[in-house]
Amino acid sequence: MRTFETSNEDETIAAGVEIAKGLPRRCVVLLEGNLGAGKTTITKGFARALGADETEVSSPTFTLIHEYGPRLVHVDLYRLESEREYWTLGLEEYFDRDCVVLVEWASKFRQLLPKDAIEVRIEHRGGDGRRITVD
Ligand code: ADP
Ligand code: MG
Repeated sequence: MRTFETSNEDETIAAGVEIAKGLPRRCVVLLEGNLGAGKTTITKGFARALGADETEVSSPTFTLIHEYGPRLVHVDLYRLESEREYWTLGLEEYFDRDCVVLVEWASKFRQLLPKDAIEVRIEHRGGDGRRITVD
């Protein structure tokens, strides 16, 4: 397990860059954290490290799947309500590509997602403090 302590948005982006640099070419990353924890912020770091345009990164809540260049896919399962809906997304196609698939709200469908997925958790530590753990 790796841990990062950050105290502002830029440090969380930098942590995202560090984490993304160490990832295998093909992997699934489950991104956990409450609203406002910094999930969208850390995704900008992933985009920077994986050659995508970080200014395109936004909360994917309305569009369930965003492709940020060929190496980063951002998925948000928040609005999905059933396993049947999960399967209609066709995530397997992304899992079979050489890219990092970042999944938000994965805990809703954890049993359907790859068992070897990497977990990144962001926790509030009071004020602007955040603790980021990678498992
Ligand atoms: P989420 O996607 O998890 O809802 P966002 O990344 O959209 O969260 O928002 C995080 C908010 O918290 C931003 O407004 C950001 O400026 C603020 N913030 C304050 N401190 C930090 C920090 N250490 N890391 C990340 N964001 C921080
Ligand atoms: Mg967000």
